[in-house]
Amino acid sequence: MDILNPATEEVVATVPDSTARDVDAAVRRAAAAQPAWAALAPGDRARALRRFAAAVDAHLEELALLEVREAGHPIGNARWEAGNVRDLLDYAAGGAERLTGAQIPVAGGLDVTFHEPLGVVAVIAPWNFPMPIAAWGLAPALAAGNAVLLKPAETTPLTALRLAELALEAQLPEGLFQVLPGRGPVAGAALVEHPGVAKVVFTGSTAVGKQIMAKCAAGVKRVTLELGGKSPNIVFADADVERAAAAAPGAFLDNTGQDCCARSRILVQRRVYDRFMELLEPAVKSFVTGDPADPATQMGPLISAAQRERVRGYVPEDAPAAIRGEAPAGKGFWYPATVLEAAPDDRVATEEVFGPVAVVIPFEDEAEAVRLANATDYGLSGSIWTRDVSRALRLSRAVAAGNLSVNSHSSVRYWTPFGGFKQSGLGRELGPGALAAFAETKNVFIAIDPLEE
Ligand code: NAD
Repeated sequence: MDILNPATEEVVATVPDSTARDVDAAVRRAAAAQPAWAALAPGDRARALRRFAAAVDAHLEELALLEVREAGHPIGNARWEAGNVRDLLDYAAGGAERLTGAQIPVAGGLDVTFHEPLGVVAVIAPWNFPMPIAAWGLAPALAAGNAVLLKPAETTPLTALRLAELALEAQLPEGLFQVLPGRGPVAGAALVEHPGVAKVVFTGSTAVGKQIMAKCAAGVKRVTLELGGKSPNIVFADADVERAAAAAPGAFLDNTGQDCCARSRILVQRRVYDRFMELLEPAVKSFVTGDPADPATQMGPLISAAQRERVRGYVPEDAPAAIRGEAPAGKGFWYPATVLEAAPDDRVATEEVFGPVAVVIPFEDEAEAVRLANATDYGLSGSIWTRDVSRALRLSRAVAAGNLSVNSHSSVRYWTPFGGFKQSGLGRELGPGALAAFAETKNVFIAIDPLEE
């Protein structure tokens, strides 16, 4: 498969297109490597993962540049992504040493719990954050004693392949972590259907996630789903409106809007609506769009021609817009930053566009803000801008989403849990519970014979 640089449309690499037979061979190798890995003392597994983290750290710039070339991410963002992989490997290594069971009081014996690794885990990753999202599954799954097969997205396999090489350089056992570049319906489907795969961690669209969940049901296979979003950015009149407007562009333009947490529904209290829009316009228009390799760049191209067609399907580039930025002309899959005034039930206001497009919708009061925020099948993230602490806490409980931020757009920290409500997903990644999602809890009761007189 040819891999294109989305900023130039040049072929930057050609990778194998894995078949179902390749998947089967990889599952067998992984299953052979896993028991010895699981049998290591937790401290030894942790040391191996720290070596892997150190190898990633030694190649941070190389990994970041690969992400620039295959995904078109601005170099500043790509450096953060490579650092996130290193940090997560380190964090998961510590988890291996702290994955303890319980001792529960019972009569007539001793009751203890164990965390047993699952075996072979498949991680199916999307193209929008190829490196971090691969690591979100990979690091805790390995730390908990599993083997991992990673299928990167069709368009972005290069960082995944490099990570697998770095794992070998760090002396992780052969076969324990393998990468299968290939197509979703071929290599991806073969992984989901393979009886030797105990769990599937899927990050991608809700439509494909539903198919995968249905297939996993057939074998009662464990599954974690990280799916789409249409997250609200709620701005109350009592907020610091300048700060809210200054932060709003990054919240839907970062990663060219190809972000499951993108705050692409901006809900603004009517009393400050005009003022907010006046402030938003220069903030959107000054969002630096262009060459991803330039450290000043904030927004690169979309991932592919197909993705640009998808965005154009929601908003033709000449459609009337409240605010429209500029995008480079010529080669590359560019699309300008766009803000639309929309009705809450317009298609562009309800479906995930996955491009640099936000809708802005006024609301009257807190009850209407909550109703609009929750009027979606998604529930991944959202922001609440207010100076009223009680309102912030009321909204934090009332908005049905897995990751909320108050007076901020921050969603992802590797040490806090991440995942979706409703059709945004199932299960949680990251945070203190990350390893337990890759283990079965086993309860053992050991009878104690009474003392014979
Ligand atoms: P996608 O669903 O098209 O593909 C995701 C992955 O699944 C790719 O590796 C693809 O090859 C594979 N795949 C496709 N069909 C398959 C099948 N039938 N069987 C097995 N695997 C298959 O998604 P995408 O376009 O790559 O990613 C964008 C989507 O991902 C957006 O909806 C976005 O919101 C979501 N996303 C969610 C999160 C989250 O954490 N919730 C994070 C990033 C992206």
